[in-house]
Amino acid sequence: MRFEEKLKRYADLAVRAGCNLQKGQDLYLTAPICAAEFARMTVKSAYEAGARQVIVQWTDEAVTRMGYEYSPLEVYEQYPEWMAKLRNGAAEQGAAMLFIDASNPGAMAGIDPRKPAASSRASNAACKPYRDAVNQGKVAWCIIAAAAPDWAAKVFPELPADAALEQLWDCIFQAVRVDQADPNEAWETHRHNFDARRALLNKYQFTSLHYKNAHGTDITIGLPKNHNWAGGGAELADGRCFFPNMPTEEIFCSPHRDRAEGTVHSALPLNYHGNLIDDFSLTFHEGKVTDFSAAKGYDMLKELVGTDENACRLGEAALIPACSPIAQMGVLFYNTLYDENASCHFALGRGFSECVQGGASMSEEELVKAGVNASAAHVDFMLGTADLSITGITADGREIPVFVDGGWASEFQE
Ligand code: ZN
Repeated sequence: MRFEEKLKRYADLAVRAGCNLQKGQDLYLTAPICAAEFARMTVKSAYEAGARQVIVQWTDEAVTRMGYEYSPLEVYEQYPEWMAKLRNGAAEQGAAMLFIDASNPGAMAGIDPRKPAASSRASNAACKPYRDAVNQGKVAWCIIAAAAPDWAAKVFPELPADAALEQLWDCIFQAVRVDQADPNEAWETHRHNFDARRALLNKYQFTSLHYKNAHGTDITIGLPKNHNWAGGGAELADGRCFFPNMPTEEIFCSPHRDRAEGTVHSALPLNYHGNLIDDFSLTFHEGKVTDFSAAKGYDMLKELVGTDENACRLGEAALIPACSPIAQMGVLFYNTLYDENASCHFALGRGFSECVQGGASMSEEELVKAGVNASAAHVDFMLGTADLSITGITADGREIPVFVDGGWASEFQE
């Protein structure tokens, strides 16, 4: 298959399987100018799928960076009302949302981290109708990645620029299954596998999971009562399916914030605000980090754990088999959409309301009471190795293998 053909398939896939765009619907596309060519292809795919109108919001990291350099912190504490109107309006009109990410991992190096943090707080507050529509299944949305020169150079520094870009596109095509005979069908199968595994995990309602490998991980995490494993495809209120993330390989839950005991050792370096934390371990007691070490980036890890009062507790446990396409590549992408789909991981910080039954309508206090952590931080770190075992412990004390040798135990296989 020629490169252009793969790109076109990818654009079609994002619009159809990703956003499940309907005839007569609007598409609100956010795209970086460094991926303009691919963005235009998705616009074309959207019109071909019957879009009424495609509105593109172009972004540019160089411009964003300039803003952070020149404008004081106060500017970022308020989100422009007219910008909020645009986003809230798109959501209220029921437009599908497609986000293309091609960010350069080092683009904001050296920027005062309080500015982007203030900016996302302010936009979250000002764009509540938009956020609610996205979080409550009122609009379909999808995040995908596009290769761009700066990002490719960071992932493949040993290659010349052209080859690095080509290599990154190849990884993307493989990860999103564009290279398979029928990508749409491949995603349908993917969806069914997710559904079956989630249903089985939810039926077991394990009280805890025990993780162990030869790398130094030996930890038991509690799971909240009435927890709900999520991941894979999502559903709109009207039952239509979409994929919020492409690729996606993870099934995840929020561990109980007070019930982690033992030590977890990292399996891959963690890129935190442009700095690498590597070969690190965290020891938990009653859900809180009580000790940690790092061969590299100890100070960054310390900052992360201390982001706020509850950044030292777990918010996510995600299961990804070592045989998933992204895991097989063995590449560090410096991009969450990719890296978090490469390996079983935990996240320090905020948990997910969707991971307990009825969580969507609970207040933050109620969620915390239910065991779901609250924090401004949510940072994934990878712990999955080829020898990782995960054992589920049921309420009546039975031990059920969930992961064996880094992959799903037989009961959970396709
Ligand atoms: Zn995750």
